[in-house]
Amino acid sequence: MADHSFTYIVVGAGLAAASAVEGIREHDQNGSILLIGAEPDLPYDRPPLSKQLWFGSKQVEEIFLHDRAFYSQHGVDLRLGTEVVALDPAARTLRDAIGTTYQYEKLLLATGGTPPRLTIPGGDLQGLCYYRTLGDYRRLRHDATKGRSALVIGGGFIGSELAAALCTNGVAVTMIFPGQWIVSRVFPESLGRALTAHYRTKGVEVLDGDVPTSIQRDGGQYRTRTRGGREILSDLIVVGIGITPNIALAESAGLETGNGVVVNQFLQTSDPDIYAAGDIAFFPE
Ligand code: NAP
Repeated sequence: MADHSFTYIVVGAGLAAASAVEGIREHDQNGSILLIGAEPDLPYDRPPLSKQLWFGSKQVEEIFLHDRAFYSQHGVDLRLGTEVVALDPAARTLRDAIGTTYQYEKLLLATGGTPPRLTIPGGDLQGLCYYRTLGDYRRLRHDATKGRSALVIGGGFIGSELAAALCTNGVAVTMIFPGQWIVSRVFPESLGRALTAHYRTKGVEVLDGDVPTSIQRDGGQYRTRTRGGREILSDLIVVGIGITPNIALAESAGLETGNGVVVNQFLQTSDPDIYAAGDIAFFPE
């Protein structure tokens, strides 16, 4: 017998999860809903973390998708800061990291993704910022004071947006990425080169066509060596080298996975009571 029982359980507390709650309530006003998320914050809109929050056009309190009252008014139980570690589709139960069990009738996996780690010596050093969450924003914002220096690893959306954000806030920024221009997988050469030149005029040192090969602590700073023979000293390191879908839970439950959880056109997995959603499963970027 599980500790708690719900009609619907949503694992993950991002945009997909918050939208799913709205969608469920359009069809079923009474079924009990539990929303479980690993992050401690209420579901929020993620794009402002690398944009508006840094330029003063939004404050943190404005990025939450709903206030706490919305969830209680809609009969949604919230378990935030709670990591689900096991899923048993046969018993229709979940278990969280402290051993609490939950029974569901219908389950939605909206578990999102995790930034991959650098697989180089020092890639797991404490303090490196693998930027993804509101917690990461708060920490980086606190640490990125005017006059400090930052190495931004990766020239995709996270790297290029945060390089601009940090530079605008008075941080001396160096960027490093393997492509020939910023956001090289998306922007055509003419646009990418123009943008890269613009970053340089803004004072960002752009090391294109290069990658870090090791990172060490050196006094209060990081010393990063690169394949091209550079050594970069910086107070901070921010990494944005892609995204890996969080599929461990689905895999452990025997659901079909690939680069995400495999679903049909209704987001239904191979188990008829389990659905999967989120930017990974539904909108691969
Ligand atoms: P990304 O857009 O895939 O870019 C990854 C970058 O890291 C690329 O420049 C890549 O270079 C570079 N890279 C890969 N391995 C590297 C290494 N070992 N050393 C240095 N650079 C390396 O991923 P992201 O910028 O980390 O963003 C993560 C996810 O968040 C993506 O899905 C992105 O679309 C999403 N995002 C969305 C928004 C939004 O507002 N909706 C904002 C930010 C991010 P190559 O391309 O040359 O391999």
